Amino acid sequence: MAAIDPFVIARLPRIVFGAGAAASIADHAAAFGGRALIVTGARSFRATPSWRRLREGLEGNGVDWETFTVDGEPSPDLIDEAVAQFRDGGYDLVLGIGGGSAMDAAKAIAGLLRTGNSVIDHLEGVGPEIPYQGPAVPFIAVPTTAGTGSEATKNAVLSRHGEEGFKKSFRDEALVAKLAIVDPALLESCPPTVLAANGMDAFTQLLESFVSIRANPLTEALAWSGMEAFGKGFFAAWQGKGENAAAGRSRIAYASLMSGICLAQTGLGSVHGLASPLGAFFPIPHGVVCGTLAAEASEVNIAALLEREPDNPALDKYRRVASLLAGRAFADRDEALDDLVKTLRMWTEKLSLPRLGAYGVNEAHIDKVVAGSRGSSMKTNPIVLADGEVAEIVSRRL
Ligand code: NAD
Repeated sequence: MAAIDPFVIARLPRIVFGAGAAASIADHAAAFGGRALIVTGARSFRATPSWRRLREGLEGNGVDWETFTVDGEPSPDLIDEAVAQFRDGGYDLVLGIGGGSAMDAAKAIAGLLRTGNSVIDHLEGVGPEIPYQGPAVPFIAVPTTAGTGSEATKNAVLSRHGEEGFKKSFRDEALVAKLAIVDPALLESCPPTVLAANGMDAFTQLLESFVSIRANPLTEALAWSGMEAFGKGFFAAWQGKGENAAAGRSRIAYASLMSGICLAQTGLGSVHGLASPLGAFFPIPHGVVCGTLAAEASEVNIAALLEREPDNPALDKYRRVASLLAGRAFADRDEALDDLVKTLRMWTEKLSLPRLGAYGVNEAHIDKVVAGSRGSSMKTNPIVLADGEVAEIVSRRL
């Protein structure tokens, strides 16, 4: 084994994982104090029996609460409005229950409730980028999609849509949830289109972390176990019926959690680099961007590596992922690399992931999208891609 290069692992939440874990949310919440702000999506969680159980549990534990709902991917304005509304509420904790949108909103609100600052003050690449000093209100994250892994990350992604739009992170280790409660049974109500899109987000996060220039043996092991679980469980969970569905949900919830742990340590790659401008300028759900670009971005990365850096260790990592997903060894590396791209293309077709053109993206937009893709995720891609290569990824999925 080669020497282990130095690495740092940033803070992680305490993690409670397992079907039925959501039944313990109220008990865990009560340990933080008697007053909670609950941030959920607009509809889905509140339509489930888990919402009634949570309210009864909080009442039983003497916890008062207010609620705030997040409809769609959160904007800086939404965060500032929530902070202004709840700032004087004396909350002991913020509980974020939902997909990445609700969890990210909760994370950002928890970060700003005490200071009252505008989130724009701290947003990367936007505004004055004032270093965040905290303190944050304790935050509990409960994902209902699998997902974004936001329950384990230190950033909240906020978007302003339109011509001058952006999709950027409020990021600090102090924002990491104190506790992540990951209950795969909460995925039961997820429609297949949501499972397809954010499942591909989770897989892309695992793959991009695995080949990231900042990967280390610990993140590689976690990303590998996440991809293994994803490969075994994703389609069973997506189909949603049959005896394997519950096991599938547990595997994708685990894969998503691993993806968040890994991305927070290693950064991501070209798919997430492109997700930033595409998600800002066009009304494309984040998971759809990731899913629709995953195969083509992998092929462009692999081609660039073969041409310019044939000894880059990322190529061997892609080969190993090909074998993991295919469940067999390949006679040679090129065959494995081709097979990986074919598998990702097959997933894209099977899941009917829309093309970018369905959201209004066309050739005329490509230069602006490429120019906006050079943010933090692109910096950890295994190879520096030329503008033409980044454009090629987009143009193949118009
Ligand atoms: P989402 O939270 O926007 O949810 C998508 C839809 O699914 C919504 O309509 C929601 O109401 C519904 N939904 C959620 N859970 C459900 C359930 N159990 N049953 C039925 N419906 C359900 O989608 P997402 O993909 O989870 O999150 C996307 C957001 O997360 C984006 O803003 C993205 O940028 C962000 N993100 C953040 C991180 C991070 O590290 N902080 C990482 C990746 C993505």
